[in-house]
Amino acid sequence: MHLKALTLRGFKSFASATTLKFEPGITCVVGPNGSGKSNVVDALSWVMGEQGAKSLRGGKMEDVIFAGTTGRPPLGRAEVSLTIDNSDGALPIEYAEVTITRIMFRGGSSEYQINGDTCRLLDIQELLSDSGIGREMHVIVGQGQLDSVLHADPMGRRAFIEEAAGVLKHRKRKEKALRK
Ligand code: ATP
Ligand code: MG
Repeated sequence: MHLKALTLRGFKSFASATTLKFEPGITCVVGPNGSGKSNVVDALSWVMGEQGAKSLRGGKMEDVIFAGTTGRPPLGRAEVSLTIDNSDGALPIEYAEVTITRIMFRGGSSEYQINGDTCRLLDIQELLSDSGIGREMHVIVGQGQLDSVLHADPMGRRAFIEEAAGVLKHRKRKEKALRK
């Protein structure tokens, strides 16, 4: 399984539709300061379900929508699609290629899709958590995060291990069931 492509439309500084294609192996994104490298990484975690504005380096969730520049008006929605090669069947879905999409409108409403079909955030989280891609930090390691793993308290360390072991999904389902 590997990431094949990431398309951003109206996400942060990417006002026009922009597609990045990835080959198996290591990908490096290089560019001058402020050119949008970290925004690409933010788009990856956002499309995989990130719910924290702070993790996305913003003050509120709507900050992911293109805010406009001189000569280009703000946009009303942000959309990111991530295409994953699933020819080895690592994701529990019978498609050799899976595209997950997240759309957010100003005002706050959101939509999620798997291969073009509307779904819930939970469906995307479950699809990914089985594969180990999860939405937590041992996938996207930001500056300072290695420190937080090393200095985690016992509960924090347990959360890392639970996600790696794939039990986090069941815990979330249990919490959801108990809330009903
Ligand atoms: P560095 O090398 O300094 O880490 P970078 O390539 O990682 O830079 P980013 O942090 O990805 O740069 O991009 C920052 C740019 O994105 C800033 O110019 C900022 O104004 C722009 N930006 C962030 N959010 C939005 C938004 N909602 N609308 C328009 N532009 C945005
Ligand atoms: Mg950066």
